[in-house]
Amino acid sequence: MSTPTQTDRASLQAADATDPLASFKDRFSLPEGLIYLDGNSLGPMPLGAAERAAEVINNEWAHGLIRSWNTAGWFEMPSRLGDKLARIIGGNDGETVVTDTTSLNLFKALASAVRIQQQDAPTRRVILTERDNFPTDIYIAEGISDFLNSVNADTNEHYEVRLIDENLTLEQALDDSVAVLALSHVNYRTGAMWDMDAVTAAAHAAGALVIWDLAHAAGAVPVDLNGADADYAVGCTYKYLNGGPGSPAFIWVNERHQGRFWQPLTGWWSHAAPFEMADSYTAANDVRRFLCGTQPITSMAMVECGLDVALEADIELVRAKSLALADLFIALVRERCGEFGLELVTPEIHAERGSHVSFRHPEGYAIIQALTDRGVIGDYREPEVLRFGLTPLYLSYTDIWDAVEILRDVLETRAWDVPAYRTRHAVT
Ligand SMILES: *Cc1c(COP(=O)(O)O)cnc(C)c1O
Repeated sequence: MSTPTQTDRASLQAADATDPLASFKDRFSLPEGLIYLDGNSLGPMPLGAAERAAEVINNEWAHGLIRSWNTAGWFEMPSRLGDKLARIIGGNDGETVVTDTTSLNLFKALASAVRIQQQDAPTRRVILTERDNFPTDIYIAEGISDFLNSVNADTNEHYEVRLIDENLTLEQALDDSVAVLALSHVNYRTGAMWDMDAVTAAAHAAGALVIWDLAHAAGAVPVDLNGADADYAVGCTYKYLNGGPGSPAFIWVNERHQGRFWQPLTGWWSHAAPFEMADSYTAANDVRRFLCGTQPITSMAMVECGLDVALEADIELVRAKSLALADLFIALVRERCGEFGLELVTPEIHAERGSHVSFRHPEGYAIIQALTDRGVIGDYREPEVLRFGLTPLYLSYTDIWDAVEILRDVLETRAWDVPAYRTRHAVT
């Protein structure tokens, strides 16, 4: 494989011609002429997904009806897809289910981890996360802590959420009051990546359990949860795994924790024998205890289409190309757009970043709108951050060149400087 060394379009075309991942572009349906730099937010549609959806609807549902829970593998789908997904994140068979949303799965993981600590280390009542985490991760931690405190209102067993930020390092924050450390492997805004091995080891040495949110990591960077000896992980399938809008998320639980406690969303799908219709709860004796209720089958079937493509791609090649695309993007923005005040907020050191690149600019929102109208789709995150996902399976080096030329044009002509581009949509 050759990665580009010269930043002119012809040498990038040459690099594309020898790119071992180039053929993966044909596995996705992408609008002609569009440069899609937002696969970290919603991946494109894998070819075959529409046919698979039609099969689920026209055959498995319309014809098979209720029988399809058994005959079309619907009932087994969370575990079967979980085992496929595990191969992307360093999980073993039987440690992962595809189910619910990342937010809900984080609730389950936190609740389960806190219960383990209530038994093993009852004085630990801090949930540690970071101020710059994706908001839902902080909100769910607050929700759990609030619930535990309302239940324990007449005791002094007070739970709290502690936030790592510029005034409190991870090292300072990891004291003997921390029950659980819950971090996102790759930061949704800046693209900064924690060292999973080192952070997990440090947390364990300090007596805390660790939950990794892999939303911006799964399918984007090599992840080895068992190699790192992590405790729990959650993540999305609709980002780098291309499972479709709102496709079900996943939860991974290290085998050593599975038998200890059940999570509090004790719906019938997590029961040891759901169809015995027992009048009280017995948790499944495996990772299925992290399910809750009936799954969205049509949506879950789409997850497999994305996973099958991801499993064919060598993640080391994906990572190498992702870093090369990002290095190129950063270099070209410096070279071609240097005078327009874009400030790089993504770490340049390879080991410290994931697969998206972000810049700060006071007119970030309007610039992103202007780019979108010119066929380059990125997205905007508060405050003032333009975010560009670099997805090796369907982006070429030439795409990066072309995207930066369009960005330069938007900045040079101030095409962003019109009221329509400053009007905020509900989803940015
Ligand atoms: C995208 C993302 C989520 C999304 O959670 P949902 O429950 O699917 O809305 C959660 N955490 C992180 C870190 C994310 O990037």
